[in-house]
Amino acid sequence: MSAQILAGKNFAAQIKENTKRDIDVLKRDYDIIPGLAVIIVGENPASQVYVANKHRACAEIGIYSEVIHMPASIGKDALLDKIASLNENDKIHGILVQLPLPDAMKADEAEILNAIDPAKDVDGFHPVNVGKLTIGDEHLVPCTPAGCMKMLEMAGIGIAGKQAVVIGRSNIVGKPMFHLLLARNATVTVCHSRTGNLAAIARQADILVAAVGKPNFVTKDMVKPGAVVIDVGINRLDGKLVGDVDFEQVKSVAGAITPVPGGVGLLTIAMLLSNTVKAACLIHQVN
Ligand code: NDP
Repeated sequence: MSAQILAGKNFAAQIKENTKRDIDVLKRDYDIIPGLAVIIVGENPASQVYVANKHRACAEIGIYSEVIHMPASIGKDALLDKIASLNENDKIHGILVQLPLPDAMKADEAEILNAIDPAKDVDGFHPVNVGKLTIGDEHLVPCTPAGCMKMLEMAGIGIAGKQAVVIGRSNIVGKPMFHLLLARNATVTVCHSRTGNLAAIARQADILVAAVGKPNFVTKDMVKPGAVVIDVGINRLDGKLVGDVDFEQVKSVAGAITPVPGGVGLLTIAMLLSNTVKAACLIHQVN
């Protein structure tokens, strides 16, 4: 028996359609056009592609968007000034600083991200939004884990009472994933590089989320028959994009699995659009 393939394309299209409907109502009934500003510092080629994709996705569904390119040589203060002016800009409801920042600015990353008004923090990285997530107020949730949850919900996969295992504990994927699954009443275990007996723990999972950043890390022997396997990883191997899960092996044992490419990655931008509209609604107090 082969696993159900959870293709991101269909889910992303549905999220975009729902978001577009909300945008149309905001425009028609409240005269509000949601706006997103994306700041990119330096010339990282992958970041440039991601930012261009975000800009194009905004245009497709009617979100106003600005891309602000700044040279890698820009000082921290100039970047903070830019963020401060976007915080005050009424046309902008969402602000994100594309990561990674240039090496010379890495040490300032927390200060830079914390300068974004939490109400406009569509990446959900600001400590205020992290705090809200931990107490169960899902205000602006980081886009990738939010996309994984949306996919589970749209695929009709039950979470309450299930054993969930998340491999990876980063602030942008692993930890928010833990909180979101816990909030849906899963029993959640988080594994990391110091976890002993990881394979045995992973094998207990009804829902297994891999966010490790290591190609083909999750093998067949780590997966319980019938489990739902969500592969967040995006890795380059021999010139190809691959996930953290050995897809070919694992699909023969899992009940459902996300492919890479074409899986949860496609939901990340859709959730960014959705978060921008959510931020606009919250700022203007529209339900
Ligand atoms: P990080 O490098 O920040 O975190 C990786 C996590 O994996 C860490 O918690 C680390 O543990 C853990 N880890 C590393 N090696 C092992 C190991 N041998 N055994 C168990 N755990 C291990 O990565 P991110 O969370 O940012 O990203 C994870 C993956 O998801 C990457 O491939 C990234 O490209 C992808 N990604 C995809 C997105 C999308 O849109 N689909 C968005 C964001 C990320 P420790 O904490 O102990 O070091």
